[in-house]
Amino acid sequence: MKPESPHSPILGIDLGTTNSLVGVVDSGFPILLADENGSRSTPSAVCYADDGSVSVGAAALCQRAHHPRRTITSVKRLIGRRGGESGWQPHYNLQELGVGPIEVSAEILRHLKSVAGRALEQPVSRAVITVPAFFNDAQRAATKKAGELAGLTVERILSEPTAAALAYGLDKLDEHQKVAVYDLGGGTFDISVLEMRDGVFQVLATAGDTQLGGDDLDRALAHLIAQKLHQPEGDIRFLEAAEAIKKHLSAEETATFESISIDRSDLEKLARPWLDRTRQHCLRALSDAKVKASDLDEVILVGGSTRMPLVRQFVAELFGKEPNTSQNPDEAIALGATIQAGILAGSLRQVLLLDVTPLSLGIETFGGLMNIIIPRNTTIPAKAGEMFTNAVANQDSMLIRILQGERELAKDNWELGRIEVPFPAGPKGSARVGVQFSLDADGILHVLARDTATNTDTTLEIRGTAIDVADERVEQMIAESVEFAFDDMNERVWTEAKLKAEELLPAVEAALTQLGDAITAEEAQNVRQHADEVRQLLDSPEHDAKALKTATQHLDDATQTLAVLLLDRAMEESLARRGIL
Ligand code: AMP
Repeated sequence: MKPESPHSPILGIDLGTTNSLVGVVDSGFPILLADENGSRSTPSAVCYADDGSVSVGAAALCQRAHHPRRTITSVKRLIGRRGGESGWQPHYNLQELGVGPIEVSAEILRHLKSVAGRALEQPVSRAVITVPAFFNDAQRAATKKAGELAGLTVERILSEPTAAALAYGLDKLDEHQKVAVYDLGGGTFDISVLEMRDGVFQVLATAGDTQLGGDDLDRALAHLIAQKLHQPEGDIRFLEAAEAIKKHLSAEETATFESISIDRSDLEKLARPWLDRTRQHCLRALSDAKVKASDLDEVILVGGSTRMPLVRQFVAELFGKEPNTSQNPDEAIALGATIQAGILAGSLRQVLLLDVTPLSLGIETFGGLMNIIIPRNTTIPAKAGEMFTNAVANQDSMLIRILQGERELAKDNWELGRIEVPFPAGPKGSARVGVQFSLDADGILHVLARDTATNTDTTLEIRGTAIDVADERVEQMIAESVEFAFDDMNERVWTEAKLKAEELLPAVEAALTQLGDAITAEEAQNVRQHADEVRQLLDSPEHDAKALKTATQHLDDATQTLAVLLLDRAMEESLARRGIL
């Protein structure tokens, strides 16, 4: 392994009651790290074997059946509390093992640190660790101490609901916006009300029950299974089956176990009173925070049990608002801790501010239209280009106007700069000029124009591009693009139709003069009539793009005979010149 660098990453750690996770910001993205078995979630379990060896995670759980009193789970319930204070009686006695809850937590953290070191191929020793919002100073200090014992420098202790809000991207909410975080895990329930103040979340109120979670529902379901099978309760098999069936019923309507089948509605009957126990805590948190449910801007879900459809429905009814379920509820806290760690390490801030182009970048093309090269919302840095040609014969240079904005017509967008690209004069369409835009991470636009015939480059660097999405002018530009979308589109279609008509008319005139005698008077009359129609539409102030397109198409159709004749005549002339005819 390489030695630790001074710019080493900071880990984000969710030290959970049942499971723990660790993540890091890598190349601008928060990622959760997997252990050597590919698992991103480590059971928060530690086994102290007789021989003095210590195992953590899944390995520790494997020992539980044989060494129940040596396998420590849910130690988070004990951390920072004096014995018995939590009102929860573990199946083990830490004193017998000669360790305290801080030491046990340190084993879990040491394990996560090594998972990270292995995944990142470098030692890491800085971390952000999350704790429940209700943890008092002593509990927070104990968690920090556990981190230090594991060889970690704890850069910050972060509240779990705040981490969840970060994971849901809610740090971009406006001042004073309010969020409820409903966290229903395996063994605990937490509800927190947060408010955005001075750009950071403040926990206004928190409530919950450290003895309420998915495990309770597993027990109730195991009871039902035993009843249905007419067998005595207490079989560990039933408890394991109950959890599996419960999870299955989050996605399916029915599950079977041995000779019985269990429907989602059976489970929901058991789940109703269980869920109802969370109601009073939610109302209490709202009232403590002096917030009405209707004042909430977002309700987010955390914890594996919130995958149950009934939980989502219950939360929606209780808060009068559909909960946001866009994140994985088991990983939201770890993800948020990782984002916070990334911000502290300086590896995320810039990416957060400058992740996409707020407005499109392009150039003006013939007829005054906007031709987009890098569209709005492209992740930067970004690079893109296109080939352009001369629209008229004998042109010997091209003026490239660099534009930013969302409007169809060049004149309605902002001009960022212009460059003149010289090239040898030639017929229409003979020049080949490649234009490349490269927008770097600092929002600086490098424009390169190359005449591909001579390989001559002209470059321009533009620093004045709009890079801030919150910029008022940017907001206005986007609002206007929507407001004028219809008119703008019509203008674009009109301009394109006009260019085509203006190209066709002189060609038709020339052909008529050259070949007028070779077609019938009727045909010539028909062509003239269509040409007049096109001219009238071109002159009309109405700019009826659809009518102009149709008329141009009719003129094109009417000149088919002329086109064939022109081709024949050209062929005859060529053969005659070569003395064949
Ligand atoms: P957590 O403490 O957040 O890891 O949540 C663990 C709890 O979520 C356990 O009670 C699991 O049985 C429960 N759980 C996980 N996935 C599901 C699911 N798909 N449906 C219902 N409960 C689930």
